[in-house]
Amino acid sequence: MRWSQTFIPTLRDDPADAEAISHRLMLRAGLIRQLGAGIYSKLPLAERVARKIEGIVREEMARIGAQEFRLPMLHPAEPWKESGRWTSVKEELFRLRDRKQADMALALTGEEIFTTIARGELRSYRQLPQIWYQIGDKFRDEPRPKSGVLRGREFTMKDSYSFDVDRAGLDASFDKHAEAYRRIFARCGVETIPVEASSGSMGGSESVEFMAVCEAGEDWIVVCPGCNYAANLEKAKSVAPAIADPPSAGPPEKFATPGVRTIDDLVRFPGGAPAERQIKTLVYVVDGAPLLLLLRGDHELNEVKLGELLGGAQARPAHPEECRAALGALPGSLGAVGVRGRRILADRALEGRREMTTGANQDDFHLRHIDVSRDIANAKWADLRNVRAGDGCIRCGKSLELKKTIEMGHIFKLGLYYSEPMGARVLTAEGKEVPIVMGSYGIGIERIMAAAIEAHHDQNGIVWPTAIAPFDVVLSTVKASDAEQREKSERMHAELAAAGFEVLLDDRDERPGVKFKDADLVGIPFRVVFGPRALAKGCVEFVVRGGGETRELPLAEVRAELARRLGR
Ligand code: ATP
Ligand code: MG
Repeated sequence: MRWSQTFIPTLRDDPADAEAISHRLMLRAGLIRQLGAGIYSKLPLAERVARKIEGIVREEMARIGAQEFRLPMLHPAEPWKESGRWTSVKEELFRLRDRKQADMALALTGEEIFTTIARGELRSYRQLPQIWYQIGDKFRDEPRPKSGVLRGREFTMKDSYSFDVDRAGLDASFDKHAEAYRRIFARCGVETIPVEASSGSMGGSESVEFMAVCEAGEDWIVVCPGCNYAANLEKAKSVAPAIADPPSAGPPEKFATPGVRTIDDLVRFPGGAPAERQIKTLVYVVDGAPLLLLLRGDHELNEVKLGELLGGAQARPAHPEECRAALGALPGSLGAVGVRGRRILADRALEGRREMTTGANQDDFHLRHIDVSRDIANAKWADLRNVRAGDGCIRCGKSLELKKTIEMGHIFKLGLYYSEPMGARVLTAEGKEVPIVMGSYGIGIERIMAAAIEAHHDQNGIVWPTAIAPFDVVLSTVKASDAEQREKSERMHAELAAAGFEVLLDDRDERPGVKFKDADLVGIPFRVVFGPRALAKGCVEFVVRGGGETRELPLAEVRAELARRLGR
């Protein structure tokens, strides 16, 4: 391919409104253009990268025996109503009506549609296991579409689904996917950490997310440097470092705390208490009734854990007036001491604590000398808090670390979550009819692309991992009008292309500085430069992008050098 005839609209300057590095570089390198919030056009370079990633995904899916489908993205509402997700998924699902006013939806994932096919066609255990997948567009009305294609409202997903007759079969399909995902991310040059995850609105039991450490990410994960424990913060557990409490100094004592509203206020208040000696009292409304949640002053409530504890009941923070109606005071002075007839959940980090301070349920007053088990005996213990860096690992005790990440892939054991309500059943070897045991597995194609850039770039631009680069090599002349440089570079273009390499010949009539800058920006792994000095010796300059490595190479050796470096 010739650069002069290729559409690579590079930008000299950083686009103003792009924050994430990958977003900035994808715009600057001429990979994408924005059409609307979270909606992007992929230009030819990005499309080449996407095809490489999809190629790797297809090879690894084939390796585990998966079969490729292509399902509609425009769905009638019925399957979504049958699974229950028409109502359980809220604003994320794009909904529309056809001309007959029938409800429709745009694909958010493919569970319902694949299950519809399974229900109609799979009859016997003999047809199982099956692994079905597609690579196709997904639509999600994300609350905060940002960071370019890392979080789009339309994006490409490889989604696969496994169908087994029993749990053991599902476990095997799940493990196959875990291995395929590990290989896909490694081949794409994106390092991921598999973590235990919560299953959210997809339903099901066990799930593992593959997370890439990334500044532009929005998910925190907890990892143990001592053992292999790793979990999404939404789900992670820890042992809070023990705090040595003095013996109880007496019964609860009320004291005035005028103007104190927050944990920090009370830390600063004369005669107050450090955050780890305070009990934070939150009031939530669950099914219309108040629920008190107690946490150590410096700990944060984890709403996902709360949601799981409540088993799907709707919970929301109480309004100040609801707090007053339930406890007699406004937020800032709330507590659980002496509270009767209300449900109280206390985080385990409060177990056994003495000499604590908490709100007195009277505005501008607090209580000190609280012994949690003595004074709040009616609380039930639960894991309610977010893990903090430095907490102890539940498996080995080592100090846990937190990392900011983005989810690259997610594998779920769905179990009977879709097959049961949708009636997808098969006959077992014993002739018994059972619901199919399903799994579901997703990977974002553009996310891999952007995460690869987040992980591999320098001040000059993108440094593509070789397996997903838009081209293998760029050939550049120092002076486009020089007959020898032109002729030699043309000849090498033909030779390398015939040998199966993806070659871009920069034949533009530009200064070498401009050409090299562009080549660096778009991140092509290798550059071969045709200049007068090297050519006089029958050589070219061979430049490795990113490594800073440059060497002279005889013309005749370029092809072998590329083959060696690309492992072909
Ligand atoms: P997130 O928590 O980041 O929103 P998710 O849990 O909604 O992700 P899944 O429903 O598990 O994601 O989707 C499977 C995969 O699809 C994700 O691992 C990710 O690679 C990709 N993906 C999900 N949402 C988006 C998006 N808005 N833009 C680009 N890729 C996405
Ligand atoms: Mg999401």
